[in-house]
Formats: sequence, structure tokens, C-alpha cells
Amino acid sequence: MVVVGAGLTGLWTAYYLSKADPRLRITVLEAEVAGFGASGRNGGWCSALFATGWDRLVAASSEAEALRLHRAMQETVTEVGRVVAAEGIEADYRRGGTITLARTPVQLARLQDQVALAHSRGFTEEDERMLDAGESAEMLAAPDTLGAAFTPHCAAIHPAKLVRGLARVVESQGVTVHEGTRVRSIAPGLVVTDTGTVRAEVVVRATEGYTALLPGARRTLAPVYSLMVATEPLDEAVWAQIGLADRPTFSDGRHLIIYGQRTADGRLAFGGRGAPYHFRSRIRPSYDVEPRVFADLERVLRSMLPQLGGARITHRWGGCLGIARDWATSVGLDRRTGLAWAGGYVGDGVATTNLAGRTLADLVTGADSDLVTLPWVGHRSRSWEPEPLRWLGINAGLRAMGLADAEEERTGRPSAVARLMAPLIGGH
Ligand SMILES: Cc1cc2nc3c(=O)[nH]c(=O)nc-3n(C[C@H](O)[C@H](O)[C@H](O)COP(=O)(O)OP(=O)(O)OC[C@H]3O[C@@H](n4cnc5c(N)ncnc54)[C@H](O)[C@@H]3O)c2cc1C
Repeated sequence: MVVVGAGLTGLWTAYYLSKADPRLRITVLEAEVAGFGASGRNGGWCSALFATGWDRLVAASSEAEALRLHRAMQETVTEVGRVVAAEGIEADYRRGGTITLARTPVQLARLQDQVALAHSRGFTEEDERMLDAGESAEMLAAPDTLGAAFTPHCAAIHPAKLVRGLARVVESQGVTVHEGTRVRSIAPGLVVTDTGTVRAEVVVRATEGYTALLPGARRTLAPVYSLMVATEPLDEAVWAQIGLADRPTFSDGRHLIIYGQRTADGRLAFGGRGAPYHFRSRIRPSYDVEPRVFADLERVLRSMLPQLGGARITHRWGGCLGIARDWATSVGLDRRTGLAWAGGYVGDGVATTNLAGRTLADLVTGADSDLVTLPWVGHRSRSWEPEPLRWLGINAGLRAMGLADAEEERTGRPSAVARLMAPLIGGH
């Protein structure tokens, strides 16, 4: 078995495969170091969020199957907690749920609609519920909050500690991880690297946001950037004013995605989209640094939590994640060629990679499990358009979300821009 990419997808796959069959010879090839990609630098929401739109899942299967997949995601949040405890991985795992604030009447109405919709689909108050302004403030004291949606299905984790810890565990199980080994091409049974060729029955492509760099895969997953900032550790007195005592992850009801967590060492780590997609799916270290986006993130964070006062931002970073043309996440194994893959998590990969790893292990070993029939297994998206259409479409979608928020702020009404752009970006 060869796994290309030592992020969470590759390492969870290696973990469950070596557990399932310790005799398997498993080699993980990583261009940089284990955890170099999104897995080592994300927002640490180990959540039950699944990127594929509900309607798309139902169209491909049924309401019951879509619900089964979401239930599997909820169990995955538990499973990650189980493994980190069992394997002694110090990943600061804390299952405090997620609070999504409503900071305008439009956001409140949208969150209420979303919770009602979730209940009509079979989720319960135990899965998602509205908090009134008082309950919300008790959890997270952000000014001008009218209420919030809350779900318990999320744990905050330290991403780099999780992925590096997992790499150590798989090595201790006998898996070989070759860092500094860039794969140049993948073919059935054959992986070519800068320093040699590896033959294997099964090859797993676990390169997510970097997939476009592989020959023949440029239009498979578009690399889209998400950027983050983190404050210095805050005093207990400041935390007493902010809340987040149980470390729930947090966001608000705007269109342009933002995400935050209270870290175990007392910082606020806060991120969001807003960085552009780069022409021809290019990926460069310099794209992780966008002063305009960092400034926007800092402005939003300080307006959300003025209790921060003069606390300094000490870290700024970013990374790329992968999006398929239909915004659907997928995992699969082509039995004819032995080529397997997982990815297209659209920024919801921390827990989903674990489900992907367990699913790939079952597919490879031929286990007749409930996982291999979940409705994302074997899904294939069509390819992205050639340039310049890809660049135009993705950046229009990204920009539309920012414009939609500005429009809502100006008019106090739900954005027409967001409604218009939904089909272009897949409705997510
Ligand atoms: C800033 C940011 C914040 C995020 N926040 C969250 C969050 O809070 N919650 C959440 O659920 N998701 C979040 N995500 C998304 C999540 O991190 C990813 O979906 C997930 O980590 C993907 O894991 P992966 O192993 O598939 O990919 P990666 O972690 O990107 O790993 C791919 C690996 O493959 C290696 N590689 C690539 N090409 C080659 C090659 N040719 N040869 C050898 N190796 C190669 C790379 O170096 C990399 O190490 C965030 C992403 C970013 C960028």
C-alpha cells in the first residue's frame, strides 16, 4: 500500500489499515513533513459538518441515507476523541460544541430557518437548537448578539499536535513515513518520486488542496485559501469577560465563512475565507500571507470581542484546501486500477478525514461495513472548467459572499447576491 500525502487523510488511512491488518506493508510518501498541509494549520474544528449539500446527497441516495451520513459524522467526532485518548495523542481535544451567533435580525432569521430545516430532516434539539440572547451571552459574550444556534457535535483540537501525534502513532505501528519525498506521478500500481519508484497494489491519493499539482489532476480539486490569526495568550480576567469556558468553537451567521476557537493555551485563534483563488490553481507559500485578509480578520475579531482590548495578534498564517467542481466531498477505491482517493472537504476536513480513513481501510480490506455504502463513497465530480473560466467563476463566488454580507448590513434584508450566486458555487 502506498499513501501519497501525510496529512490527516493519509495518516488516518494508514492508521486504520495497519490496525485492520498488521501484516500489510504501508508506506506514506510526503513531499514536505507530516502535517505540512491544511491538517497542521487549520482552525481546529473537529466538527460533524459535511461539505456536500443535503439536496445533492439526497439526489444521489435518499433522505435516510443523507441522515445516516450525517450521523456517521457525529460519531466521527467521538471517534477522534476516542483515538487521541487511547493512543495518548496530546491534541487538546475538548468537545464543547459550536456556537453560531446571530448578530443582526437577518442572521437570526437565517439561523432559525436552518435549525427548523434541520429538525424537519430528522435532527433533534439534541443535535441543533437555538439559544436566546441570554443563553448565548453566557457561552460567548459578544455585544449585539440577538441569539445563537448551538450544536454539541464539535470538538476543538490543536491541529498540528493531532497530525504530528498521529504520524508518530502510525510509525509505532510499523508504517513507514518518508518525509521530503515528492511524488511526481501516480499510475495504477506505480508511484514515481524524485528519488525512486514504488510499486504497490493500492495507491491512495491523499493530497487534497495540492492535488492540482499532480499530472492529469489539475482540474480535479481547486485549491482555495483560508487564512488565520491568533492572539497572544489572554489573561484569565479577559476570559472571564469573553466566556468560551468549555471551549466551544464559534462563528456567526454571515455568508463569508469565519471560524474561531479558544485554544488550550488561552489564545483566540480565528480564521476566514476571503483570500483569492490563484490562476491555474497555483500554490505558493506567499499566498498564505495576504495582509488585506489578515487586517479584515483582525477587524472582525475585535468588533466581535471588544474585550480583547489591546491584546496583540502574534501569529498570522494560511493554507489551501480542496474543492471539487460540484462542492461534493468524496472517497473511493477503483478496484480495477487499485487507485484510491479522498478529499474535496471544502474546509470541513478535520473530522471527515477520519471517516475517510476508516472507509478506505474497509474498502481496501474488503470489509462489509456500514461505512462503504455511505452515499459519498465512489462519488465523482465533473472536472473544473479550464482557465480563465475557473479563475473567474471561483473568484466571483468568493467575492459574492463578501458582497452579500455588505448588502445585508446596508439593507437589513437577506442578500439577493447570495441567492443569485448559490448555483455557481454549488449552493454551499
Ligand atoms: C487555514 C485553514 C483552516 C481550516 N480550518 C478547518 C477547521 O477548523 N475544521 C475543519 O474541519 N477543516 C478545516 N480546514 C480544512 C482541513 O484542514 C482539511 O480539509 C484537512 O486537513 C485535509 O487533510 P488532508 O490530509 O486531506 O490534506 P492536507 O493536510 O493538505 O495534506 C496533504 C499532504 O499531501 C502532501 N502532498 C501534496 N502533494 C504531494 C506530492 N506530490 N507528493 C507527496 N506529498 C504531497 C502535502 O505536503 C500535505 O502534507 C482548514 C483548512 C485551512 C487551510
